[in-house]
Amino acid sequence: MLTTGLTRQLDEYGRIILPKELRESHHMDTGDPVAFFLEADSIMLKAHNPGCVFCGNVGGTSEYRGCMVCTTCKDELVALADSKRQSQAHG
Ligand SMILES: [Zn+2]
Repeated sequence: MLTTGLTRQLDEYGRIILPKELRESHHMDTGDPVAFFLEADSIMLKAHNPGCVFCGNVGGTSEYRGCMVCTTCKDELVALADSKRQSQAHG
């Protein structure tokens, strides 16, 4: 786990402001859902984007390189890659 060197103080309601540099580097914006994870004595948070990055579908998604992709879009990408490979092989 990397340390950021950044600290923030909880306010009277237990809230913190997520530093702008972290929001920007992780493509998080105000209003975005955030998921919490626990590990030993740590609380981690992560942008919660359950939907497919291409179509927004929330069913049947799986994570690829930090992005959620649904089965339909994944199949379309595979078909596109296959057709591109075939055209390169014959071109
Ligand atoms: Zn999709």
